[in-house]
Amino acid sequence: MSFATSALSRIRLAAVSGRTRLLSTPWNRLPYSGGAATFGAIPSVIHSAAAKEEPNRDSTTVTSTSTDPSTDHKDKKRRMSSSSTSAIIASASAILTTASIASSSSPTDTRHFSTMPPVAQEPHHSKVVIIGSGPAGHTAAVYLARANLKPVMFEGMMANGFAPGGQLTTTTDVENYPGFPEGIMGGEMMDKFREQSIRFGTVIHTETIGKVDLTSQPFKLWREGQEGSEHPTDTANSVIIATGASAKRMNLPGEETYWQAGISACAVCDGAVPIFRNKPLAVVGGGDSAAEEAVYLTKYASHVYVLVRRDKLRASKVMANRLLSHPKVTVLFNTVPVEAKGDGKLLKSLVLQDTVTKETRTMDANGLFYAIGHIPATSLFKGQLDLDEDGYIKTIPGSTLTNIPGVFAAGDVQDKRYRQAVTSAGTGCMAALDSERWLEEHYPDQH
Ligand code: FAD
Ligand code: NDP
Repeated sequence: MSFATSALSRIRLAAVSGRTRLLSTPWNRLPYSGGAATFGAIPSVIHSAAAKEEPNRDSTTVTSTSTDPSTDHKDKKRRMSSSSTSAIIASASAILTTASIASSSSPTDTRHFSTMPPVAQEPHHSKVVIIGSGPAGHTAAVYLARANLKPVMFEGMMANGFAPGGQLTTTTDVENYPGFPEGIMGGEMMDKFREQSIRFGTVIHTETIGKVDLTSQPFKLWREGQEGSEHPTDTANSVIIATGASAKRMNLPGEETYWQAGISACAVCDGAVPIFRNKPLAVVGGGDSAAEEAVYLTKYASHVYVLVRRDKLRASKVMANRLLSHPKVTVLFNTVPVEAKGDGKLLKSLVLQDTVTKETRTMDANGLFYAIGHIPATSLFKGQLDLDEDGYIKTIPGSTLTNIPGVFAAGDVQDKRYRQAVTSAGTGCMAALDSERWLEEHYPDQH
């Protein structure tokens, strides 16, 4: 099966398996419009991969052949209008057709895409591999590439439900990342991160790492689809893990309709949006995140209701006190939302249920913020790396060092407290510097 075919099947598979759930949500509608970016990279992947098939591992990294500006323009328009899985698949098929007749190499588009390397050949060895392509991964890539370490990044193919570029590809305006005084669309920002990584020589594979063996040097990695092989597809002396996390959702009736149209999982990211100004808002959860987010939202809301499923908060004493004493906050114990309702465009109210009596009632609410925990993308590393009780990678405080020398973790995968683009980028920088120093000490001849 050619890569082009297998890529398309994987998109379809992902869609069927529900991993593309964000696609069917109204990202392209008020008040957010960045949803199409969720799949932004995929048509290009198919395009470039279809344009050139590779006979062996050593030429697995190929250069995209897209030079026709009208094709690029059409691609962009196609992406912006794709709000359903079938539209994406249709777009991908159309691009495949275009790609099959494209022939010239582009000196400007330096994206690197790869076919799956044949099994049982020498694995491709790098000094350092980065797994993940959010702000943490790309910041690490820029630093490592500028240090001449020739980093190789696996940006993922809908890994953990996200397109290459990570969580920010699922949002619209990012207004709290320094350097963009007017704000910037999440997808556009991640395109810029990617360009910068490539500019300094990072090789990016649009593939997911499906298995790792971190027990001995060099570390062994298997690309998705090749996990069954005895031989790894790739090896590296150092690995930076930047696979991110995803917010837990409740899958309420109405959630798909009002996701990012009233329902959000990040108050700090979305709380300042005009639709929430002077309106009643609800936060669900009873932990520190819920407390922090609820207090944060009081700056914008007419009132904040915190929905706690038990008769007590899980939050620390200090956070709980802050919450309970705030004049603009009411904590509703033994309460969960069971349905989100609105006018079809924006959330207007919630159906609440008393968890003890099971009685239901309706409450006006223009916003519902989930603060019920996150799931770090660490299943790949279970049993090899030290994880905390919630599955986050444990790092030595003040560094990105894990329990395995040469393996570093950055971004949301190791941070359950801040979970911001800028903090992820910051730890990505730290991981690159930690990795560089470690390689210098242990593999000085390769420097
Ligand atoms: P992520 O962004 O999570 O990216 C990880 C990437 O790694 C993903 O692309 C994933 O597919 C890939 N990956 C995972 N596993 C593998 C694998 N096995 N192989 C290869 N690749 C893999 N923060 C802000 O500062 N400001 C905001 O305005 C803001 N808005 C947000 C809006 C939304 C809707 C969401 C969900 C988050 C928002 N955030 C915001 C938070 C911010 O997006 C995250 O803190 C940040 O993206 C985390 O970066 P990261 O590099 O750790 O990983
Ligand atoms: P937690 O897991 O601590 O809390 C999750 C909360 O959501 C709990 O109250 C839980 O209820 C509730 N919950 C979970 N699932 C559901 C559901 N389906 N329906 C309704 N409620 C649900 O997550 P946090 O994100 O709050 O915190 C994660 C970690 O980060 C903690 O260690 C926390 O201390 C830390 N943190 C610290 C901060 C700070 O110090 N400023 C800020 C933010 C986080 P129940 O209690 O019944 O299980």
